[in-house]
Amino acid sequence: MSAIAERWHFRKGLQDLGNGCYAYLQPDGSWGWSNAGLIADGEESLLVDTLFDLKLTREMLETMRRADPRASRIRTLVNTHSNGDHCFGNELVTGAEIIASKACAEEMRRDGGAGRLAEMKRNAGAMGDAGAFFAEVFAPFDFEGINVAMPTTTFERELTRKVGRKTVRLIEVGPAHTAGDVLAYVPDDRVIFTGDILFIQGHPIIWAGPVQNWINACQLMLDLDVETVVPGHGPITDKRGVRDLKGYLEYITREARMRFDAGMSIEQTARDISLADYSSWGDSERIAVNVASLYREFSGGKATAHAAELFGLMGRLYRERRK
Ligand SMILES: [Zn+2]
Repeated sequence: MSAIAERWHFRKGLQDLGNGCYAYLQPDGSWGWSNAGLIADGEESLLVDTLFDLKLTREMLETMRRADPRASRIRTLVNTHSNGDHCFGNELVTGAEIIASKACAEEMRRDGGAGRLAEMKRNAGAMGDAGAFFAEVFAPFDFEGINVAMPTTTFERELTRKVGRKTVRLIEVGPAHTAGDVLAYVPDDRVIFTGDILFIQGHPIIWAGPVQNWINACQLMLDLDVETVVPGHGPITDKRGVRDLKGYLEYITREARMRFDAGMSIEQTARDISLADYSSWGDSERIAVNVASLYREFSGGKATAHAAELFGLMGRLYRERRK
């Protein structure tokens, strides 16, 4: 085990990073099992992300309050991006200012909140391969009755906030994973909360791209003075985790480009790229979405695939690879 893995166990709940910084982790980090963060100083606290449903978020907030009374009155909530596993619990952080990038807030409004996922889950039986996959990976979560509280403050590029005497830098690095990804960096503590710009021990998923923005975001994190890196999914890491993800993105971009130039389809390419070097990472079916996003870029937006098609292909890869 590496030093970082020995230091931070990947178990459910709150990890005290020291000096008022905490990570809330949800193994196994797969579909929907996201992480969140708490930054406290003086009498104040800032929450980085909520969880995928109200029950999980309630449990997290209770755990945080028990560990640090400053979590009883969270003044600021930051959503790192628009995916539900990072914002569907927003309504439980009552009275907080909710900060997101402008692009994230727009995407949250476009996505239509949790209602769309609740409906997809109810209709999954009629949606073929895509529905079966959706129903299986999202079975543990309850999307009914959620009214996602929307951001109240938006920004572009960078916003700095004080929590007590501590500085938190919110740095927009998207579009990459989604339209408006944001990193939350605490320079004084050399801690960064990356949202889904970092998946550890799991394949990342490129919903938006361009991939170069994501590679640049990795480089930016590598250039920052950072010791502890809290990913959006998976165990706490350090710059090694950032380097590995950057390497993965560069690798699949090269491999997909060769196959795109050779005229191979999205499905052929998704099946053909060797992921042997990443065999310890979960959720390898995400290669389908990653190849589709790269093809869209390579073709200048011409090669597009529907979400239902991609969920169907992910479902087939998921089933085949688990046999
Ligand atoms: Zn996520």
